Amino acid sequence: TEEPLHGLTISELRVSFDGFTAVDGVDLRVEPGDLRFLIGPNGAGKTTLVDAVTGLARATGSVRFGGRELLGRPVHRIARLGIGRTFQTATVFENLTVVQNLDIAAGAGRRPLTLLRQRRSVPSEVDEALTTVGLAPHAHRLAGTLSHGQKQWLEIGMLLVQNVELLLLDEPVAGMSHEERDATGALLRTVAAERTVVVIEHDMEFMRAFASSVTVLHAGRVLSEGSPAEVRADPRVQEVYLGH
Ligand code: ADP
Repeated sequence: TEEPLHGLTISELRVSFDGFTAVDGVDLRVEPGDLRFLIGPNGAGKTTLVDAVTGLARATGSVRFGGRELLGRPVHRIARLGIGRTFQTATVFENLTVVQNLDIAAGAGRRPLTLLRQRRSVPSEVDEALTTVGLAPHAHRLAGTLSHGQKQWLEIGMLLVQNVELLLLDEPVAGMSHEERDATGALLRTVAAERTVVVIEHDMEFMRAFASSVTVLHAGRVLSEGSPAEVRADPRVQEVYLGH
């Protein structure tokens, strides 16, 4: 069958911990250009699913990206296939500037830092990422002085310059101001136009405003899937979120 180059296709995915099945036969298809939100109550299996895709959790079934099977590959090989992830706490180099962080991510990290500081021009991919994530005005600030939201954007920028084609983002707007959330939504839409983006999210307001499609996980299974409006109208979803 024809597979788009950067589409993500998950089939019959299962992850168990000592007999407890955290992901219980999930099928999921994310097309490039989609901005897919993965939601569900705590313990639904969202993080474990992302762990399986990135090679952190042992899984059975199939995870294909860009026509390649990911399951069974070690974490660093999966990363090299263009799959990258952020965590709720951004991991940037606090004592380096924004540009230096991007430089390192782009591969300049192998050079001594003295050389890095002497360079007069930054590569265009770094410039491009700076603009995309809205940090051009802060290019020469120490990353440690950025706001929580700006650090998240920097981390996304670091994935962009690494040519990550599948971005898996864990609650990117947690702790952000309203303005930062809107800016993040716009950023994710821009990124998703050219790459495949999956966002784990708890913020329903954010999901409604920016998701192009939503998969609801519950007890390790896909409970519902569709547009934000469709999943919100799904009685099974309402039951899981509101019913007791
Ligand atoms: P979510 O991200 O949707 O909140 P998780 O994927 O973190 O859910 O967890 C799904 C279930 O798997 C939870 O019941 C959790 O306790 C369990 N789980 C996750 N990781 C492990 C682990 N390493 N060992 C045992 N159980 C785990």
